[in-house]
Formats: sequence, C-alpha cells, structure tokens
Amino acid sequence: MSRQPTYKVSALTQGTVLDHLRARSALRALRVLRLPPDTTIMVGVNLPSKRHERKDLIKIEGYELTQEEAAKVALISPDATLSIIREYDVVQKTELTLPVTFRGLIRCVNPSCIVHEERVPGLFRVEGNDPVSVRCEYCETSFAEEFFEFL
Ligand SMILES: [Zn+2]
Repeated sequence: MSRQPTYKVSALTQGTVLDHLRARSALRALRVLRLPPDTTIMVGVNLPSKRHERKDLIKIEGYELTQEEAAKVALISPDATLSIIREYDVVQKTELTLPVTFRGLIRCVNPSCIVHEERVPGLFRVEGNDPVSVRCEYCETSFAEEFFEFL
C-alpha cells in the first residue's frame, strides 16, 4: 500500500487555477489580486512538483482572472500556468510569461521619477527572471520583484 501523501483539492466547477507557481509565491499573488472578500479560494504552498522541487497552487472558485490580473501574477511567478474552468472543463490553458516591456501594473520605486508628477502609467523593461526585476524606462531605476508595488 502506498504511503505517499495525497493532495486532494476539490475540483472547481468554474473559475481559475494557477498552477506551478513559484514556491511560496501564492500568498503574495493573492494579496496582489485583491479578489472579492467572499471568494472561495484554495491555496497550496510548497507542494511537491515534477517540474520544480516545490510549487504553489491557487484555485479560485467562480472567478476568471482578467488579462491584467494574469499579467500581475506573471510578474510574481512567470513560470505559472493559468487555466480557466467552466462546467468542470478546462476551456483555456496558458503559460504565463514575462513581457519584454510593459506599461502600468506597478509603480516606479523612485519617488522623484517623472511618472509620479505627470501621473502617467510607468513603462518598464524586464531585466531579470529569477528573481524578476525591471528597469523604469523614464528614470532608469532598476528594482526587483520584492519591491514591486502593484497598482
Ligand atoms: Zn521611474
């Protein structure tokens, strides 16, 4: 008889599954997503993974992430997969990837950056993948994911 632990999480009827999140990134991702307070969410942290040593997993019942929300998760865990479930079926599965450049989503950390004064969305160039880091195209400041302040 197998004594392997099993990780049974009930299947979603509809909603979003974020799988292969970087280990210990799920709680940060949830804080960034700011889902409605009554949303049913199942979270797995440090689960064994075939692809990586450990992974996180988030299942969100009855809510489909928008493009912008998915783009934010990609900045936290670019290797994650996003599945949209409807009537127990996966109707869409995408692998999140880091863009080369992107507008908005986060604030430039430099308090004297012109974007704050001009009230324009920031423009960032991705520089690193693990950890994710970016450079502001306006003031040239580089900063890593742990300093991202999401909009
Ligand atoms: Zn800047």
